[in-house]
Amino acid sequence: MSNSSPKIVICGAGMAGLSAAYHLVVKQKQKNVTIIDELNPLSLTSDKGTQAYRNWWPGPDDTMVKFINRSIDLIDELALENNNFFNLNRRGYLFLTAEQTHLAQWKKSALEISKLGTGDFREHTQENSYLSTITSSFDKNLTGADLILNPEIITKKYPFLTKNIVGGLHVRRAGWMESVKLGHWLKDEVIKAGTKILLDKLESVKIINNSISSIKLSSGKVLDIDILVLAVGPHLKATGRLLGLDLPVFNELHGKITLSDTANTFSSEAPLMIWDDPLYLPWEKDQIDLFNKDASTQRLLEKFPTGVHLRPKGDKNNLELMIIWTYEHKTQDEFSPISFDPYYKEILIRGLSKMIPKLSSYFGKSDKAYLDGGYYCKTPENRPLIGPLPINGAYIIGALSGYGIMASQAAGELLAAHIAGSKLPDYTSNFLLERYKDANYQTLVQNINSLAGQL
Ligand SMILES: Cc1cc2nc3c(=O)[nH]c(=O)nc-3n(C[C@H](O)[C@H](O)[C@H](O)COP(=O)(O)OP(=O)(O)OC[C@H]3O[C@@H](n4cnc5c(N)ncnc54)[C@H](O)[C@@H]3O)c2cc1C
Repeated sequence: MSNSSPKIVICGAGMAGLSAAYHLVVKQKQKNVTIIDELNPLSLTSDKGTQAYRNWWPGPDDTMVKFINRSIDLIDELALENNNFFNLNRRGYLFLTAEQTHLAQWKKSALEISKLGTGDFREHTQENSYLSTITSSFDKNLTGADLILNPEIITKKYPFLTKNIVGGLHVRRAGWMESVKLGHWLKDEVIKAGTKILLDKLESVKIINNSISSIKLSSGKVLDIDILVLAVGPHLKATGRLLGLDLPVFNELHGKITLSDTANTFSSEAPLMIWDDPLYLPWEKDQIDLFNKDASTQRLLEKFPTGVHLRPKGDKNNLELMIIWTYEHKTQDEFSPISFDPYYKEILIRGLSKMIPKLSSYFGKSDKAYLDGGYYCKTPENRPLIGPLPINGAYIIGALSGYGIMASQAAGELLAAHIAGSKLPDYTSNFLLERYKDANYQTLVQNINSLAGQL
């Protein structure tokens, strides 16, 4: 490999591949970078999410908090330097509950998470001490979490919420952005700096003496290269096999619905709101009788887990609800065509009506909602894979699970630092593939699983 200018191919033009390219080409000044994707950039998983972010991550250590905090720093920087063209906001995530016992649990876990570097923990019983949601742009310094013990503070501000609420936990270094706009901007920046993007599929990899030698694309093209970066999202398991690797990843299906709020049930000024209580779906009597008759629909009458959440999209004249809830975790090793529970849309609307009762006006009308989604590609402990692989010249940036948008900047920066040989941050080793050989790491993560930190 020539030291000055290695030939680099990034396979995958999702948010991970484009962020890696941006850091390699624009920040690290690498030449000779080509991106290949069999689809249009950002069109597989990276344009399917709620585009939200938060620095609120549980332990057991501060790895994920540091990593995502770094990523948010970089996203802030891009917003500030570029007139916030991708509409980054910092409205926060507001967890809500109707269960009194939840408040003490929240306080305990919030104090623990706060110590990991997410910012101060504050408690409020009076309205004047609590800084309510900032709707205009974002405040770079907003951080920590506010536990609201007086529900009137919340219901006064958001009268559409159920009066059963007993409190809320408002996580502040959080919000959302138009990440597809950001992704296309990253793509344009790397093209301006000389990067080529090929619409093609990686079909095979030639390895000589344990080093990347060339790749073959489905068009028949063969590229002699020095470095291959796998940024293939949910195709990681299969792509790893092209290099003779069995990567420790699997895919988990997630969907979201988008619904025009014609009945004015919500507010365009709300934060991302999460119902943090398990629930039974509100069905009508005839539906209950029907579901009871069939083993495949009885599940609709069972208790559903916590976590249904939504955020507003658009302004008050054109408001849409983006709703998401993973009430079951279906996993599979490989990528396969995406299909959802036929009741998914109706389940989300009914589930969320526990938090926003007026959503009942959409019961039975869920066909009006638009459903899409994709796979979270995950490792067993829900941390990403970023760095070199055991073949010289092969790198990975993947397994970014349900946080690949918020993590993309720090992930791209880390991958580029590995390739360019620049200074690595202290979370580096926790994202290497070789971490699984480390007994200390295994001990550390034995208490976390693939749902760690997931909403
Ligand atoms: C419903 C849903 C909600 C989400 N919400 C959020 C959120 O709010 N915040 C957040 O941070 N994250 C969220 N995520 C997660 C986030 O979207 C992903 O982590 C992220 O998009 C992964 O990016 P990626 O670049 O790794 O993968 P992808 O976007 O899937 O990109 C991989 C690319 O590789 C290409 N590729 C694969 N194999 C080949 C090959 N052999 N040859 C050529 N090209 C190939 C594919 O065509 C694809 O374009 C959500 C995801 C879903 C599904």
